[in-house]
Formats: sequence, structure tokens, C-alpha cells
Amino acid sequence: MTATIAQAQLDTKAPAVSLLALCPHCDLVQRLPDLQSGEEARCSRCGHHLDARHPEPVVRPVLYAGSALFMLLLANLFPFVSMFAAGNSNEMNFFDTSSVLFTEHHQWLAILIWLFIQAVPAACMFAILYLKLGMVYALPARTWVARVLYMLKPWSMVDIFLMGLIISFVKLVADADISLGPSFWAFCLFCLLHLRAFQVIDRRELWSKIAPCPIPQVAAQPGKSGLAQNLKLCQVCTALVPITQTQCSRCHTKVRLRQRASLQNTIALLIAATLLYIPANLLPIMRTVSFGETIDSTIISGLVLMWQDGAYPVAIIILIASVIVPVAKILIMFWLCYLTRLPVSQRQRHSTQIYRLVDWVGRWSMVDVLVVAIMAALVRFDLLMSVYPGVGALVFAAVVILTMLAALSFDPRLLWDPLTEQHEGVGFDAATER
Ligand SMILES: [Zn+2]
Ligand SMILES: [Zn+2]
Repeated sequence: MTATIAQAQLDTKAPAVSLLALCPHCDLVQRLPDLQSGEEARCSRCGHHLDARHPEPVVRPVLYAGSALFMLLLANLFPFVSMFAAGNSNEMNFFDTSSVLFTEHHQWLAILIWLFIQAVPAACMFAILYLKLGMVYALPARTWVARVLYMLKPWSMVDIFLMGLIISFVKLVADADISLGPSFWAFCLFCLLHLRAFQVIDRRELWSKIAPCPIPQVAAQPGKSGLAQNLKLCQVCTALVPITQTQCSRCHTKVRLRQRASLQNTIALLIAATLLYIPANLLPIMRTVSFGETIDSTIISGLVLMWQDGAYPVAIIILIASVIVPVAKILIMFWLCYLTRLPVSQRQRHSTQIYRLVDWVGRWSMVDVLVVAIMAALVRFDLLMSVYPGVGALVFAAVVILTMLAALSFDPRLLWDPLTEQHEGVGFDAATER
């Protein structure tokens, strides 16, 4: 399905409140076009996704989420991958990627990986099933489930795990035979169905079915910022909330004009990530024991080794994911924080788009950590050849998590506030939350 993308409209007629949207990235109030099935509306100023209509809004998400859960169950029941090397064989199950780390005294890393590739994706699929079936059977607590669903979404990393599997196989294929079990194919289907289940739901549409959009006691005019009209956005359910109201009347979340201490939190998380990035590169991420010889490899030395072995595509992917992306993300996030302090520039649209890109791409840095978990579960032939995780893997995972939290803490509306102050005469003051 190719979605038609329509731009939100800025005419000044007073539309129904359910058709008004406040952009979470640039704070512009706009009138949503009357969308048909398969259409999507984007912000006319910054291009952010605002609304979408999907065909068969109940049946498709239920089918995708239900099938995804069934595939996840199958992925845990049968052999995942087998490896044969020098007359020995080892079989890995899907759950081994976490359990082996646990037995190797890397409990924190084991728990993180289990959460990212099993618990969070499964919880998201259950939540989608519950919310969609809840539309038909009026199930309770849907407000709470919808809040949790969008909180968990960035932490579901099944697509990155699949990339990690491919990289691991390419690394190993020169030294061993790899045989893919039925659970591997079930996992591939799970990834696909999980992705589709998220593609066929829309936050705004979902909330409109849980409860009608509350009518703010303040007139809202399209084409002006929320800040200038004493309106703020509920980031959870997309409702427009008057500035004087502290809680959203639909989802009961505390609503703030801008994210609390956004710049301070973002900068603090970025500094912590920068400091941890040094030991993450100096400490070994993986230990390989081969014929009694032990080799500790850091991210960089692993990269050099792969390049020397001629595995250029994998070396390039790891270079991008583990070196370029985290460094670029930290630098760009610092630059965005600096931009919010500048007087009006013409770069708001571009900087908001760059923010969205780094926010999306940052989680892919987790791929190297997942490769270590897969290799440690798969390559277990005692002294002949075994792979063990290194402490650097946990430190690097912490760097990725901190940069993800930094991107989540950053409020892109701060980039647009100087423009609002110049054109509409109302500025945002973080000290008074005005
Ligand atoms: Zn916008
Ligand atoms: Zn709300």
C-alpha cells in the first residue's frame, strides 16, 4: 500500500476540534484534511507525520499482531541456528542469545537483550491486539495500554537483531557451516509482521476510538503556533490542552508546554554518553578463544580484523553503526541544543528533519552488541573455538541507550520558539514554563 501524503491546511475557518492538530515537532496549529483510507497527513511546516487512515483499521492490526505473537512462540520452540566446524556441531535456540550471557555473568546485558528482542516486542503486539479488540468489546484500561504501547515502541529492536544475525552469519561462514532451523524463519516472519502491525495503526486514530478528543476552552486558529494561542499538546494522545490545565482530560497524563528541563536533560545524557564512549572503545567487546589462544577484540580492532579478512560489507556496516552513527548522533544532538539558543534562523525545518533522522538511526548502533550476543550463543566449541562477551559490550549498550534517551529528552519545538517570538510576539520561558 502506498499512502497518499497530504499536507495539513492553514485556512482560518473555525474547524471541528477533532480536525485540529498541533504539531509535536514545530508547535503549529493546523486543520487536518478529511483523510480517505490509505492517506496520510503531514505537517505543512516541518513535514512531521500528523494523522493517517488505514484500510480495515481493526482486522489488519489484529491479524498482524496475532500472527506475530504466534511466530514469536514458534521462534522459541524449535532450533534456531546450527553451526558445524571441524567435526563439531552446536545448536542455538532463540532464547540462548540471552541465557548464555546470563550464565557467563553478564546478567545486565542478558536482561537488556531479552527485553529488546523478546519482552518489549511481545508486549507491543499484545497491546495492539488488546487495543484493537478493545474497540469491538469495550475492554477496560485501554488508556493505560495505549500510553504504555507508545512508550515501549522505540525499545523494540527485532529488526536490529535480524541485521545482527546476518552480520554474524557473514562473519562465521568462512570458518564454519551454518544451518538455519525452523525457528529462524519463524523469527524472520515475526520481524515482518511486527513491522506491519505498527505500520497499520495510527496514534491519533487509536486515541479517537478510546475516547473523543476533548474540546479545549480556548479558541484555536490554524496557521498560528500553540504557544501564541495558549494551547499545548498532549504528547501521549495528541489532544489540544489549554496552557492553564495541567492534566490531559482524555489520557490523564501530565501535560507540559515543553518537555521538562529538555535542554539540561539532553546535555547531561549526551555528556554521560560521551564519557562512556571512551571506555566502550578501549574495553574488549568480545573475547575469542581459538585453539587455546585468547584474543580480546575491541570495536575498532574487530573492524580492522574484518577488513583484513576481506569482509568489507560487514566491516562497513559495523563502522557506520558502531563508530560513525554514535559519534555523529552525539555531535548533532549537541549542535541542535546550541541551535535552540540562537536567534531566529531559517534552518528550523532542516534541523527538525535532521533531529528525526538521528532519532531514528541511533538505535541501529545496538547491532554490534547483538552480534556479540549471537556469536557468544552460537560459537561454543570449548577450546577449539568459543566466543565470550566482553565488558565493553555492556558499556557500549549503555552509550546507545543514553543517546536514545537524549534524543527522547530533546524537544524539537524549542528550535521553533524563537520564530514564534519574532512573528507572534510570544516566547517560551523555561524558568516559568510560559
Ligand atoms: Zn510541524
Ligand atoms: Zn492526552
